[in-house]
Amino acid sequence: MIRPAERARVVVIGAGQAGLSVAWHLQRAGLVAGHDLVVLDRAPGTGGAWQFRWDALRLGIAHRVHDLPGMHEMGLRFDDADQSRPAREVVAEYYRRFEEHHDLRVRRPVGVTAVRHGDGPGSDTLLVETRDEHGVAGTIRAEAVVNASGTWGTPFVPWVPGRDAFRGRQLDTTGYRDAREFAGQDVVVVGGGTSAIGFLLELDGIARSTRWFTRRPVVWSDDPALATGAAVAAVADQDRAARAGRTLPSIVSGTGLPVSPRIRRGLARGLLEAEPMFTRLDGDGVLTADSEHVHADAVIWATGFRADLRHLAPLRLRTEAGGVVVEDGRSTAEPRLFLAGYGPQASTIGANRAGRRIARQVLAVLADDDVAHTHTDTDTAGAAAAADDDAAPDGQSAAGA
Ligand code: FAD
Repeated sequence: MIRPAERARVVVIGAGQAGLSVAWHLQRAGLVAGHDLVVLDRAPGTGGAWQFRWDALRLGIAHRVHDLPGMHEMGLRFDDADQSRPAREVVAEYYRRFEEHHDLRVRRPVGVTAVRHGDGPGSDTLLVETRDEHGVAGTIRAEAVVNASGTWGTPFVPWVPGRDAFRGRQLDTTGYRDAREFAGQDVVVVGGGTSAIGFLLELDGIARSTRWFTRRPVVWSDDPALATGAAVAAVADQDRAARAGRTLPSIVSGTGLPVSPRIRRGLARGLLEAEPMFTRLDGDGVLTADSEHVHADAVIWATGFRADLRHLAPLRLRTEAGGVVVEDGRSTAEPRLFLAGYGPQASTIGANRAGRRIARQVLAVLADDDVAHTHTDTDTAGAAAAADDDAAPDGQSAAGA
């Protein structure tokens, strides 16, 4: 089944921190949600990727979830929430209240399957193709598209010899639910970031054994000032990569891992001894760099994520260097496309800041379009008709045009 084509001024893909932040700023600037501003999300519930995170990731042990702009006027702050609740539950609840309060009318579950040039490259619209949970396809023609699709849909697992030969369980971060699933098992955890550390700490006393393997030596960072400086440098690194169209470096590799009291206890108990990456897997374990065979019932790949941009493939944005050229949140190849939460903006605070900056640029695109339409209409049908058009921003009224 196919829905009649629609028209909107702006489509936002994704209602996580980044998408909601941009949508809120656009709404404040006068766009009407549900009409000229359409926010789509393929997930069933509110909370962006947070809705899928595991229970043991409590709000108090997450890095810090920053409030959305527009939350404070509702009296909502993550710092005031019960820090012992699962982060996924609190974020999903707060985002739901946020969406309702600001009447953002997010459509879900509606997945974007493709974004195309409206009428070929250089067109003054983009076509957003969608599919809902009943398989109904739709198309929205928009003057600007803000892609805020995050990374949760594209976990990255490195290729290691023997990966297909391993007969135990293999999962990535998105498949992890509860340490109790690994009770009594020998578990190998791979990856040098905070997710891997969280899994190791949760598995302690539940799994029979854990071994931890990382590609690079783990650098712990005890000094908050140093960690902040390194974080700033790592974000700048991400920005340089985004501007050059390279694949994005890992933030953790640039910052070192902050030692929280919980991690300090894990270190003291000898739980967090990282070993160099193993060389291969076989049917029932891994072979270490020292040629030791380590038995494993399960291998957890906490090896990071890539930006989920598959639906943008028709725009052919990928460079030979493997990335997408993005300057200050805007694609240089397709100036009607914005990427919120991408590269240097990939944290809840980065996503927030991106909201304002991207909204401002989107509004500039719309203003240019208004001027262009006014001129065209003046040339053809007269100024009065043009003024009428401009006074009726309801995108739905032009459905299928
Ligand atoms: P997301 O929250 O991933 O939202 C993207 C949305 O887009 C999703 O709802 C998804 O359903 C939707 N979507 C994707 N593709 C499509 C499509 N094709 N069509 C329609 N909808 C689509 N950051 C912090 O600041 N603090 C933390 O403590 C922290 N902890 C983290 C822990 C883990 C395990 C991970 C993986 C990341 C963590 N981060 C943390 C980073 C965090 O993910 C980001 O800060 C933030 O949640 C990203 O927001 P986002 O809006 O960019 O993406």
